[in-house]
Amino acid sequence: MNTSPVGFQLAKPVLAIEGLTVSFDGFKAVNDLNLYVDRNEVHVVIGPNGAGKTTVLDLICGKTRATAGSIEFNGRELTRMKEFDIVRAGVGRKFQNPSIYENLTVFENLEMSYPEGRNVFGALFFKRSAAVVARVQAVAAEIFLADLLHQQADLLSHGQKQWLEIGMLLMQDPELLMLDEPVAGMSVSERAQTAELLNRISEGRSVLVIEHDMEFVKSIAHKVTVLHQGKVLAEGSMEAVQSNPKVIEVYLGH
Ligand code: ADP
Ligand code: MG
Repeated sequence: MNTSPVGFQLAKPVLAIEGLTVSFDGFKAVNDLNLYVDRNEVHVVIGPNGAGKTTVLDLICGKTRATAGSIEFNGRELTRMKEFDIVRAGVGRKFQNPSIYENLTVFENLEMSYPEGRNVFGALFFKRSAAVVARVQAVAAEIFLADLLHQQADLLSHGQKQWLEIGMLLMQDPELLMLDEPVAGMSVSERAQTAELLNRISEGRSVLVIEHDMEFVKSIAHKVTVLHQGKVLAEGSMEAVQSNPKVIEVYLGH
């Protein structure tokens, strides 16, 4: 066992969820959940519809308030923080439907997401500095849109729009990136490219992904958590989870 101070720091999860519960009119959508995400880990949450997967992301990003439990991110308690402060603390979240500006170009969408360009005053006095342009170009290359910087966003394919939104999150350089069903509706080749993208961007950050596509999950997951009725049903490597009889019964068998 590595007992050096540095080793201890690295071993500490970036996100520690303990006893997390949310009750909607008495119905516990998330029920005493424990979940840990390590640094540089791609952690995938799977499970049947209604298991509470999206609600977990809503709780982490502050959109929904917990009834009980804690969400510790880098030692900070998120359950008491406002959504905007959670973003500033380093948590980026992509929703199922992309929220990009359809009438702006790829460049402009990315530029708008640069942290200094974000508040009203920042936008008013925002100067297109060399640093911003360099960052936009670097992110565009990562999300396979380097040649489409001046394309209006509404002309992008469904998959490209999803990548653009991931790029908008990358502009903020989040330490934890959360994605809800990122490959839904994507073509086979777009799925493969998205897997490549997620493998690449997890170097230096943690990624928490909800996904149903098992081929895709297999190609990205370091760890899989199976959620069922707001609780962890199983957890471990893709192989371990796939061969777990309980998981086959409630989810994979269908
Ligand atoms: P999943 O993403 O795993 O399909 P969800 O987290 O969206 O599941 O939903 C889990 C359960 O919680 C569902 O039964 C859903 O109807 C319920 N739920 C989610 N959000 C709310 C809410 N804001 N108010 C009431 N019920 C909700
Ligand atoms: Mg969902």
